[in-house]
Amino acid sequence: MRLFDTLAREIQDLSPINGESFGFYCCGPTVYGPAHIGNFRTFVVQDVFRRALELGGTPTKHVRNLTDVDDKTIRDSQAAGKTLGEFTAFWTEKFHVDCAALNCLEPHIEPSAVEHIPQQVQMIEELIEKGHAYSAEDGSVYFRISSYPEYGALSHLENRDLDLGHTQSQRANDSDEYEKDSVADFVLWKARREDDGENYWSSPWGEGRPGWHLECSAMIREYLGESFDLHSGGEDLVFPHHENEIAQSKCSCGGDFAAHWFHITHLLVEGKKMSKSLGNFYRLGDLLEKGASANAVRFALIGAHYRKQLNFTLDSLHAAGEALDKLHKAERSLAELAGQDVAPSYEELIGLEDKGLFEEAWIGLNEDLNTQRAIGAIFGALRRAENDTDPLTQWKGLHFMLNALGIELPEVMEEVAEDAPEEIQALAVERWEARSNKEWAKSDELRDKLKDLGWLVKDGSGDYSLEKL
Ligand code: AMP
Ligand code: ZN
Repeated sequence: MRLFDTLAREIQDLSPINGESFGFYCCGPTVYGPAHIGNFRTFVVQDVFRRALELGGTPTKHVRNLTDVDDKTIRDSQAAGKTLGEFTAFWTEKFHVDCAALNCLEPHIEPSAVEHIPQQVQMIEELIEKGHAYSAEDGSVYFRISSYPEYGALSHLENRDLDLGHTQSQRANDSDEYEKDSVADFVLWKARREDDGENYWSSPWGEGRPGWHLECSAMIREYLGESFDLHSGGEDLVFPHHENEIAQSKCSCGGDFAAHWFHITHLLVEGKKMSKSLGNFYRLGDLLEKGASANAVRFALIGAHYRKQLNFTLDSLHAAGEALDKLHKAERSLAELAGQDVAPSYEELIGLEDKGLFEEAWIGLNEDLNTQRAIGAIFGALRRAENDTDPLTQWKGLHFMLNALGIELPEVMEEVAEDAPEEIQALAVERWEARSNKEWAKSDELRDKLKDLGWLVKDGSGDYSLEKL
């Protein structure tokens, strides 16, 4: 596997430092609400990355944290009248359901920030002892950026104005949101404030809670050690989050921290940055309600190379459904030629040598995780596979690639329910036509109408069924 490294700014070969398994860390979700499909572009691409390594024969150790204490989780748990723990457990559960629907493998370890407060406190103590951190008058502790000359290498900070010697609270305020833009000494420990409510912990510097950047450094040391293979997140995390993690970890532990950095470009929706006010803010549940399958959402999310901007549209989702349908038909005919029925499992496919005509797709995937190239090559291979003399090899090769991308083929849709009354069937046909013509508003309206009449429409990739509610 070769991958573009954000720090080195070139494509590099990857292999485990310890010669055994590839240890990588992904910054996980902030569990204060449902994750949106932008978050899932990042998590799905990271999942494809892991699958490609494992299927290629390299075992992995995948660690992804849960951010369950920060300004947003505290603010919204209070608004919801729940304890922080109850509130974040609820959203963590929802996140897991979406991950499973999108066919993402569970990380091997999923540590939570709240459960690692002592490790974070210890890291701050080490940083103070070594002169990299100081406690300020406001009762908080800050990282002294001027004590770490390499600060900014990942994000090319040399081109920006550094405002050293000032804490964030002296510059403006010390909210987690503000930390995302500030190039000032950043907060490691936040002194307790009234609006924190019951959410504070004791420390040598008084009551408070850790700053947002610290949790990853502390949990990485705990689960992957001081030097590990790769660190990943969406592109927004390069600065300041990952820059701050490097500073904290290198100054406290002294190891090399991450050997490689892997960042995923942000998703656009309908050509724009996702925002609630623009009405283009989609969560998985919103798309499922529109009749899409989670499988089609996943397929659409990997439709472009991760370093390119991906513009997610309802049209692209529709096209993903159609592509899955084609894949499904091609798989069925190849299975018949090969005399096979039950698809091989993920475990059975690990290390498959002969990928037949699908070798090209595999090469594409391993060259900077080019999912777009891999998908194109799969369709190319399928066109040639029909006339191949070794359908069994081709069938296995196809399943190998489907597993690498995490694509599950759609189930055969049930026939349109015969027992639905005529007027219901007529409405369903009208809706299907609207949907096929990409008249989304009309199709949604008819779906709602059918729902009011007691019938649920379930869309497959090339068909639909009606279910009595
Ligand atoms: P958060 O829940 O905000 O902590 O983010 C979880 C992950 O999603 C992080 O790796 C973010 O960088 C990533 N992320 C946030 N917004 C987007 C987006 N629009 N496209 C791709 N990744 C994103
Ligand atoms: Zn992180």
